[in-house]
Amino acid sequence: MIRSARTWDISMPITESMPVYPGDPPPGFTTSLADGVTLTIAHLSLHAGTHVDAPLHVFPDAPDAGQLPWMRLCGPACVVQALATPVDAEQVGCWPLRNRDRVLVRAAPGGCVFTADGARALLGRDIILLGVECLGPDNDDDPRLPVHRILLSASVPLLENLCLRDVRPGRYLLTCLGLPLPGREAAWVRAVLSC
Ligand SMILES: [Zn+2]
Repeated sequence: MIRSARTWDISMPITESMPVYPGDPPPGFTTSLADGVTLTIAHLSLHAGTHVDAPLHVFPDAPDAGQLPWMRLCGPACVVQALATPVDAEQVGCWPLRNRDRVLVRAAPGGCVFTADGARALLGRDIILLGVECLGPDNDDDPRLPVHRILLSASVPLLENLCLRDVRPGRYLLTCLGLPLPGREAAWVRAVLSC
């Protein structure tokens, strides 16, 4: 018997009322209807909705979203639950990760930002992608974005604004592709888990 795969769309719907990073404008849409034809112009940050950050986000001259190795965002992934925020090295040490894993973190009630030590612990566990169910892995009162810097300097892309509410911790296959945006520091993605 062929068992059909279960799938979960873990991308956030893009609407004017979605949460955005402090200081970013909310998504705006201008829709016109003429002669029965609907046309919408969108005005939104590349960091609105589910997206991937490329190293260019925090390092000038580093690879941009058009240079991301997309197959790195597709493959075996481990969904884990943050027990408290910020996530520190001790929490990371308890996660059942494999080498070269893609790690997707369900938020604790207060979110799922990381300490710098927590980010270094992820690198110590040889991960190749970090995804978070929040606006980003850095505390938004620290504009230096230390967690972004630690992970992006090691060429670990960051997936932000995932919707993991309906997904239990465990192992999945992640399929995640972004729009080609050469020269830009981030790209919107559609991300799906299956098992
Ligand atoms: Zn971002």
